Amino acid sequence: MKCPRCLHDDTRISDSRVSREGLAVRRRRTCEKCGYRFTTTEAREILDLMVVKRSGAKERYSTEKLMKGLTFALQKRPVTKEKIRDLCLRIEVDLMKKDPKELTSKKIGEVVLRHLKDFDEVAYIRFASIYRDFKTIKGFKREIDRLSQE
Ligand SMILES: [Zn+2]
Repeated sequence: MKCPRCLHDDTRISDSRVSREGLAVRRRRTCEKCGYRFTTTEAREILDLMVVKRSGAKERYSTEKLMKGLTFALQKRPVTKEKIRDLCLRIEVDLMKKDPKELTSKKIGEVVLRHLKDFDEVAYIRFASIYRDFKTIKGFKREIDRLSQE
């Protein structure tokens, strides 16, 4: 993106946020040449993200689906719908950082887990138990142990 002041071609992104409505991404940019700072608003390209599932099948990324998964993991936890919505947006900002055209469901799951870990430990364990598909109580215990060590 060109600098609006000196028209230099390289600008650095210092911050990306999804707008509250979730429809746009605001980026803080700094011109590499003159240091001018400005903000751009871009349509949310994550809507075009394709998710590659374990089976190899592809499907369009869906915010609704992520919200469903988060709401499920956070059932009966002391969080508001608004807080879950915020978490969802933060995860999406993270997913968008690399500006990918497609992501595996595995990769998305890892990003979700990373966010849930700081957000709510119970929800993290719930999500991990589905996502990592613990086959034994041992595997489940290992995850709990790892969590309590941190
Ligand atoms: Zn400039």
